[in-house]
Amino acid sequence: MKQKETLLTTPLKEEKIELSHLIIEEMGDEHKASSVDTPLRSDAFDKKDDEKIAAIEPHFRAIMEILGMDLRDDSLRGTPLRVAKMYVKELFQGLNPANMPSMTLFENKFQYNEMLVEKNINFYTNCEHHFVPFFGKAHVAYISSGKVIGLSKLNRLVEYFSKRPQVQERLTMQIGKALQTVLQTQDVAVMMDAKHLCVSSRGVKDDSSNTITSFFGGKYQDEKTKLEFLKYIEMND
Ligand SMILES: [Zn+2]
Repeated sequence: MKQKETLLTTPLKEEKIELSHLIIEEMGDEHKASSVDTPLRSDAFDKKDDEKIAAIEPHFRAIMEILGMDLRDDSLRGTPLRVAKMYVKELFQGLNPANMPSMTLFENKFQYNEMLVEKNINFYTNCEHHFVPFFGKAHVAYISSGKVIGLSKLNRLVEYFSKRPQVQERLTMQIGKALQTVLQTQDVAVMMDAKHLCVSSRGVKDDSSNTITSFFGGKYQDEKTKLEFLKYIEMND
């Protein structure tokens, strides 16, 4: 609980930059950006990706050497560079707002006014406390305010925010808030159901527990709408 309060009151400087990326195509300046920010330094993107890879590589090499591994071995030699590339170009690519997917909106010409649910979106992300994966399914929904979005964009947005060191609560809220901004409506719901390797493969070694987080905006705070969303998620494919 304490942690959630802290997250909610964190200054939102960087997120505003990100959200400004989100709203280029359709949104005016009047929309207030608000979200739960990933803690980033102001110089986070001064280095180019290649410079970051070159800088991380010797540090990861040092960790392996301190652990006693012989980096002259064929199998290990390439690992520090491989990990550095993977961090910058894959796993943590979503730290940089420049990598935010473009979000094109369409007019809701067919006047579909019910909720749209995109469920069972696979996501993989990494716990920022242990740097090991957590992964599972995301379910997102919205009720159109007159604009609609390409379905694959919902998946891409989940993927973008997943490519950061994360905590599941923040990830859920970042997706929800970003969707509210893009879709110009408060009526957005997100639920994430994940397994955390930092819980299952180490520490308490509980491999049967799942972590569920949710975000209910606007009409989704009404019991009836919320239950409808939850019912769709429970439906078998
Ligand atoms: Zn963890």
